[in-house]
Amino acid sequence: MESVALVHFRHQLALKESATIGESTRQTTHRTKENPDFDNNPDRTRMSQLKKRKINKKKLLRKGSPPNPGNNAEDDFEVPIVPGPALAFLGLVSGGGAGVDTGAGAGGGGAGPSSRSMHHYHPPPYHLRRKSPTHPVSSCPANTLGAAAASVAASPTTASPAGVSAATAGLPSAATGSMLMLSPNAAITAATAYCPSMLPARKRPRRTYFTGDTSTGLGCNPFTAAHYLLYELPDEVLLTIFSCLYERDLCHVAQVCKRFYTIANDNELWKNLYQSLYEYDLPLFNPSPCKFDFVQPEDCDYENPWKESFKQLYHGVHVREGYHKPLGKECGRSVAYFETIQAAFEFCDDVERPLVLIHSGVYRGQLIVIETNIALIGAAPGNVAENVILEQECDSTVMFMEGAQQAYLGYVTIKFSPPSCTDNNMQHHHKHYALEIQENCAPTIEHCIIRSISHLGAAVSVSGPGAEPVIRHCEISDCENVGLIITDRAQGHYEDNEISRNALAGIWVKNYANPIMRRNHIHHGKDVGIFCFDGGLGYFEANDIHNNRIAGFEVKAQANPTVVRCEIHNGQTGGIYVHEQGMGQFIENKIHSNKYAGVWITSNSNPTIRRNEIYNGLQGGVYIFGEGRGLIEHNNIYGNALAGIQIRTNSDPIVRHNKIHDGQHGGIYVHEKGQGLIECNEVYANTLAGVWITTGSTPTLRRNRIHSGKQVGVYFYDNGHGLLEDNDIFNHLYSGVQIRTGSHPTIRRNKIWGGQNGGVLVYNGGLGLLEQNEIFDNAMAGVWIKTDSNPTLRRNKIYDGREAGICIFNGGRGLLEENDIFRNAQAGVLISTQSHPTQSHPNLRRNQIFDGLAAGIEITNNATATLEHNQIFNNRFGGLCLASGVNPIQRGNKIFNNHDAVEKAVSSGQCLYKISSYTSFPMHDFYRCRTCNTTERNAICVNCIKTCHNGHVVEFIRHDRFFCDCGAGTLNNQCQLQGEPTQDTDTLYDSAPPIESQSLMAEV
Ligand SMILES: [Zn+2]
Ligand SMILES: [Zn+2]
Ligand SMILES: [Zn+2]
Repeated sequence: MESVALVHFRHQLALKESATIGESTRQTTHRTKENPDFDNNPDRTRMSQLKKRKINKKKLLRKGSPPNPGNNAEDDFEVPIVPGPALAFLGLVSGGGAGVDTGAGAGGGGAGPSSRSMHHYHPPPYHLRRKSPTHPVSSCPANTLGAAAASVAASPTTASPAGVSAATAGLPSAATGSMLMLSPNAAITAATAYCPSMLPARKRPRRTYFTGDTSTGLGCNPFTAAHYLLYELPDEVLLTIFSCLYERDLCHVAQVCKRFYTIANDNELWKNLYQSLYEYDLPLFNPSPCKFDFVQPEDCDYENPWKESFKQLYHGVHVREGYHKPLGKECGRSVAYFETIQAAFEFCDDVERPLVLIHSGVYRGQLIVIETNIALIGAAPGNVAENVILEQECDSTVMFMEGAQQAYLGYVTIKFSPPSCTDNNMQHHHKHYALEIQENCAPTIEHCIIRSISHLGAAVSVSGPGAEPVIRHCEISDCENVGLIITDRAQGHYEDNEISRNALAGIWVKNYANPIMRRNHIHHGKDVGIFCFDGGLGYFEANDIHNNRIAGFEVKAQANPTVVRCEIHNGQTGGIYVHEQGMGQFIENKIHSNKYAGVWITSNSNPTIRRNEIYNGLQGGVYIFGEGRGLIEHNNIYGNALAGIQIRTNSDPIVRHNKIHDGQHGGIYVHEKGQGLIECNEVYANTLAGVWITTGSTPTLRRNRIHSGKQVGVYFYDNGHGLLEDNDIFNHLYSGVQIRTGSHPTIRRNKIWGGQNGGVLVYNGGLGLLEQNEIFDNAMAGVWIKTDSNPTLRRNKIYDGREAGICIFNGGRGLLEENDIFRNAQAGVLISTQSHPTQSHPNLRRNQIFDGLAAGIEITNNATATLEHNQIFNNRFGGLCLASGVNPIQRGNKIFNNHDAVEKAVSSGQCLYKISSYTSFPMHDFYRCRTCNTTERNAICVNCIKTCHNGHVVEFIRHDRFFCDCGAGTLNNQCQLQGEPTQDTDTLYDSAPPIESQSLMAEV
């Protein structure tokens, strides 16, 4: 009987509501539970469903037609089905004084939810009818909230005695005409006080039938109070009353009518309710297993984010000290509270996907071993994790074991705090952790603060095959040991964690563990940032690793991680350290500002270093020591304080396609028997040599571009050897290649040009085989061979030098075979010895020396040479010019078609200086003037002797290379043969093209 009446009543209400809002209809047909909203509802409303519902609503409003109840089957969460509690609250159906008490409590304004006495199982409305009615007007003497609430409380007594069906049928109609019969003060004042902006918009329901009821003329029409309740009671009053309700009752009253629905879904109302139960500052959503997100209310798609969040968490049980109450006995609420986490666990044993909310507090000594898909989450205001603390002294604080495939732990602090004490304890704690994840489980742990003061082991241990946790947004900091150990083939995803200031490494990955780590922030550790060893693997992407006391990333003993797009910087030693047969792929990382090298590779390690930016190191860029290997390619290495790449002690890496530039030291430094294949790199703008090769090293350099250095291009010294092949070496402030002190490289097919101090400089005992190089456009000499050096030059082309082609000075020797030496601004080959104990004495065979802008070969200053089968032709100042006393060994040379431009100028009476200027020393007769008291170092040409020093006491010194000091104006007398050289002469020595020198010739 009761259910029939209720259903009927409900149906009437529903029909009425559905006419305007298009919902709250379906509950008549399929809901059976007493509270559909907050029971474990398997198909919780999702965003998509919500949106769909909104669309449905709009459609229906537009059409203005009542919806088919069946169409709304899925949008059910908003609508409670059982009106009983709502009516009970309003007094319409409450038995005894319950309704009155509630109303009075609300009217007093001081009653909290816990003080109410309502309960769920309300008697049917007709119980009330036995009570004597109270006139609504007389019970509303004032329009205060309290009075209004009192009228609400009183109103049930006016309910129609005509039975439930009559009441439900009559409610809407009675309301229409009963306005005047209400207390005018209460109704009108409340109406005017109502500010629409305070609440969601609502519509006054239209009533177009049953108006005849007012004609009864009864002062206390039984429908008047109901009408007042439904339509005229000020929203604020209803809101105040509703604010005293728990969630279930709120849902019930929401079903009464659209107005109630709107008010009962008030955001602030639900926010308060939500925060009183869950304590969170923000709505927390649980869109899928193991996923809990706080969302700013304004960023939510839900109309009432607080209510939605409330609903999503409602199946949870609470661990909250002092809140323990028997489950389900609380009126309007069905929430379980426990004193301890274990008690909650036990309760959850049979629940399918249990959720445990752990409220503020320190939970010490509670064994938390998780073997199921339980979800544990802290529940507190403010920073949730900081307020919920799990702590253990002996065993691991939280342990996940086999079976916890989809367990969740979030927003708590996990502390492992063993007493600082004896060695025994230390041994014991070695195997215990703040967080321990064993094999075959895959929990999600997020937003946790993890601390351990154990001096052994780690704060977090993930160990064993099948251990595949998701650990994200956790903070593992200030631990007295390693932050996180992943070992024994464990895997898992580790994202967005903060791992900092730990006493040992931030992370250990070992024994074939293979984690995926992204976007972690690993810094200020007192040891390495990440240490991968004993076969450890892993994929590390976009981690920020910095300010660790040792290397940022250390790899050893067959470990082979992949490290991509990480930033590894400001380490107090190196950036990446790979040793003891370590491997690894380091790709697209930024490695900078480390105190030692950006990358160290030692002791038989063989990593791949590709496409990294390695810069601003306080030492070098990449160091390969101790038989290290490695593939180092496509990196950009710059701005390091020491060498960009250093190869040492039998290391043999492949270094290719790198840019190595703007270092404060050299580009590539190979020493102590370093080797290496160094190919296709661009090495430029370094402060010292582009490439240094020394102390027994034998690298191979091929197809590199080495240029624009502030010193030498490639520098071999102290027994530096190796092969330099097919490189472009240009624009250095010193020479392109320097070879000295026992170095004996092979230098083949290179282009060496634009050196400001010559192309190739071999000196101080340097050796070397130079074959088939192009050496051109260098200032000073194309090739210098000086001070007891003895290289072999074969089939090189040495041309367009801005001074001599080859200068062999001061004990320089060398074998020069089959070279083409042409178009150089000064002598093709100049051989000299000045104040050096050893005579310069090269061997020149089968060279062609031609088209020089000065002489072909000049030999002076007690030097000598062996000249065999050379062809010397078409040089401007003569073919072979020998100073007085020089007697080279000559055999089979062909010297032809050379021009005696100097001789001709002198014969025409000009001063020698006319064609020499300051910088050129053409070979001619050298005089001095005793009358003018010129020194040994002053030379005077024969024409000046005849003219400017006519009548003076003069003497012939020798035939040699000089310019005329008389013509140059360095003597006391005034030269009478015009001092300054012609303008064209200057261009001659500034690598002038041949056509200009022809015009000079014509002029001369
Ligand atoms: Zn002169
Ligand atoms: Zn003189
Ligand atoms: Zn003169």
